Amino acid sequence: MNFDLSPELAELHARVRAFVDDRILPAEQQLVAEDRAGQDATLRGLQAQARQAGLWTPHLPTDLGGLGLGVTGMAVVFRAMGRSPVGPRVFNCDAPDQGNMDLLLKAGSEAIRARYLEPLCRGEITSAFCMTEPAPGAGADPRNLRTRATAQGDGWVLEGHKWYATGAGAAAFLIVMARTSDDPRSGATLFVVDRHAEGVVHVRDVETLAEPLLTHREAELRFEGVRLGPEAVLGKVGEGFRLAQVRLVPARLTHCMRWLGLADRALTLCRDYLGERISFGKPLAEHQLVQQKVADAAEGIHAGNLMTFHCAWLLEQGRAREARTFSSLAKRYVAQLLCRVLDDAIQLHGGLGYSRDLPFADWYRYARAARIADGPDEVHTGVIARDVLTGQVELLG
Ligand SMILES: Cc1cc2nc3c(=O)[nH]c(=O)nc-3n(C[C@H](O)[C@H](O)[C@H](O)COP(=O)(O)OP(=O)(O)OC[C@H]3O[C@@H](n4cnc5c(N)ncnc54)[C@H](O)[C@@H]3O)c2cc1C
Repeated sequence: MNFDLSPELAELHARVRAFVDDRILPAEQQLVAEDRAGQDATLRGLQAQARQAGLWTPHLPTDLGGLGLGVTGMAVVFRAMGRSPVGPRVFNCDAPDQGNMDLLLKAGSEAIRARYLEPLCRGEITSAFCMTEPAPGAGADPRNLRTRATAQGDGWVLEGHKWYATGAGAAAFLIVMARTSDDPRSGATLFVVDRHAEGVVHVRDVETLAEPLLTHREAELRFEGVRLGPEAVLGKVGEGFRLAQVRLVPARLTHCMRWLGLADRALTLCRDYLGERISFGKPLAEHQLVQQKVADAAEGIHAGNLMTFHCAWLLEQGRAREARTFSSLAKRYVAQLLCRVLDDAIQLHGGLGYSRDLPFADWYRYARAARIADGPDEVHTGVIARDVLTGQVELLG
């Protein structure tokens, strides 16, 4: 087993890391302030620099302008980009666009690629993925799907209600999961829907624990008699549940990569305060209860890193079925780790940590969603336990 990065990947990693440290981190507050004021000059400027530096959409194949990294290569650069919550957007590989690009690459027709994927890759438009519905519809259990597409002529008519579609308000197109039959396995189909098609209603952006940031705005939508042509079907009719898995397994792993970057940055930021702040006659760093938190964070980041790399490697080998259990393990673990590291970072900084003079409070509110989105902890717990109990997973295999 060799944990060395190839010289090319090590060089790329160093360049991404330097870009994030030298250009994104100093502009981070400005970028966030502009986003809250509905402006994007700093973001656009950094995106142009990322393009110039050859770091734009690195996850894509080279013929689409990417670096053809493979999943383990993505893990290396996504961790570095994720050190800032705005980093992935600068390189055009943030959720949900990155997962949607991946899905359109795997399942999109020539026409869908030309109309939606190419401008998405160029950063001219954004997209959203619409699976979740308000109760009693699809949530942790997608089989509750209620949005329905009914065949009419050679096309479809879409009726339904979705929410938590990240970025859908500003998106140019939506990937919508709808019921096309009552078959429990093949009852769902994915459709690529123009966001401004007649009958697509943006009800609101749901106010959440976290402040909205860039595309991270959770839209509620209604589909009221939206007419779709046959070309709107992504993949084949009845493949919706399968394609959602094709998208979600790697997509949740890319979340882990970004979250590891943020957790690592948080731990690094703790270093200065712990070394300088004197309490009860010595620096905080010399108190054993403080050291416990630091060691716990280091252990967690390292373990999460190994889980993520291992699962990335499985995906790269084409072992997607095996990777499913390991992606649940990584996702559940890293989501909880991020929340714990940020909670401890707040605790270790006392009142300063709780204040918004430091970024931990904002990051914590944002991170809390990690334990719900892309499958809540409990669903991943169930998947892991099922696969262990039925002997479907070889942990030391
Ligand atoms: C910030 C954010 C962004 C999101 N972005 C998107 C997006 O872009 N597109 C999209 O389609 N969806 C998105 N989601 C929705 C997300 O995927 C769902 O919230 C998630 O799948 C859970 O569904 P639900 O909210 O309906 O919870 P419910 O299904 O109502 O479940 C509620 C709770 O019940 C518990 N639970 C559920 N099932 C089990 C079980 N089997 N065993 C034990 N306990 C269980 C869990 O604690 C769960 O949190 C996003 C959510 C968040 C918070």
